[in-house]
Amino acid sequence: MTAEKVTARPIDLIVIHCAATPNGRRHTAGDIDRWHRERGFNAIGYHFVIGIDGLIEPGRPLATAGAHAVNFNARSIGVCLIGSDRFTWSQWRSLEELITRLRGEFPKARILGHRDLPRVAKECPGFDVREWLARGMRPADGEIFEESPTSGHHPLPGGEEPNRDPMAPPIRTS
Ligand SMILES: [Zn+2]
Repeated sequence: MTAEKVTARPIDLIVIHCAATPNGRRHTAGDIDRWHRERGFNAIGYHFVIGIDGLIEPGRPLATAGAHAVNFNARSIGVCLIGSDRFTWSQWRSLEELITRLRGEFPKARILGHRDLPRVAKECPGFDVREWLARGMRPADGEIFEESPTSGHHPLPGGEEPNRDPMAPPIRTS
């Protein structure tokens, strides 16, 4: 079985995002799913979420178009790092692992940061994906979040504003 049959849609783009939550604050795919639904969206917009402990959680099924990159959802996969612009070593390692895997499954797909797409004003994902790739998927100095005693005490919900995608089919969840 080929990857195309598994996903039931062609993939030519992998878009890396951040959740725009405070660096180092713990959040799950379930949190993002709730935030996106609260904003009137039918489910989490990303296909994968990488938590600060490095856990790679599934979001939308790959077979379903995401809602993470306006005008580019139909043929892309959305990957979201929890945080804003500094990520834990566990996250960087998991991102490398996930992108390497997706690259194997979709060898023709380009890998970009959200901000690399046309007409995107935000900083998402908070680092230069092309430079990260050029360094062999290694973060630069200053892009690594170090745990501190004060991390994890931010009560306000955050989260990147999801891009509305009225063409996306409704998502059935169990
Ligand atoms: Zn984004």
